[in-house]
Amino acid sequence: MKIICIGRNYVLHAKEFGNEIPFTPVFFLKPETSLLLKNRPFFYPEFSEEIQFETELVVRIDKVGKNIEEKFAHTYYNEISLGIDFTARDIQRLAKTKGLPWEKAKAFDNSAVLGKFLPKTRFQDMNNINFHLDINGKQAQKGNSGNMTFGIDYLISYISKYLTLKMGDLIYTGTPEGVGPVSIGDQLTGYIEEEEIFHCDIK
Ligand code: MG
Repeated sequence: MKIICIGRNYVLHAKEFGNEIPFTPVFFLKPETSLLLKNRPFFYPEFSEEIQFETELVVRIDKVGKNIEEKFAHTYYNEISLGIDFTARDIQRLAKTKGLPWEKAKAFDNSAVLGKFLPKTRFQDMNNINFHLDINGKQAQKGNSGNMTFGIDYLISYISKYLTLKMGDLIYTGTPEGVGPVSIGDQLTGYIEEEEIFHCDIK
């Protein structure tokens, strides 16, 4: 099982870091050991002083596929969730300036919060799904899937040119603008529309 994370998939998020809007999707991987499930707490790692949240819609792949045509991509998943792509921003910044890979900043243990799944039949339009993150009861970030540069079906098709997608693989579809730091003691709650999807305490 693998986790594929999309970078810079919302125009305003790319701009908040001064990044160019990509012409093709940017993706990177997290290992299975990065998953943080069942509303378990996140323990702030000692190697970073700047852990940031990135709230992202997550798609779970349901069948094996390679070179999937975009028009058939919707048959490869049935459920979506919400998660956090925790990022050690201080480490990522250093890696970027040196042209080094991002794994230490992105793929560390428990860096991929994942909530419960909802059937996609719950949604009339996959390109109009609202989600938000509350920290300590106040809204910290919100997004709508319609603002993605590359939609879910395109992402599935694109990724499958490079990587065979297998049952259980997860795609984190990228964060909207408004990312920010977390601190020990924070309580994070993620919602799709108004339904609570995950909860995560920072310890
Ligand atoms: Mg991200």
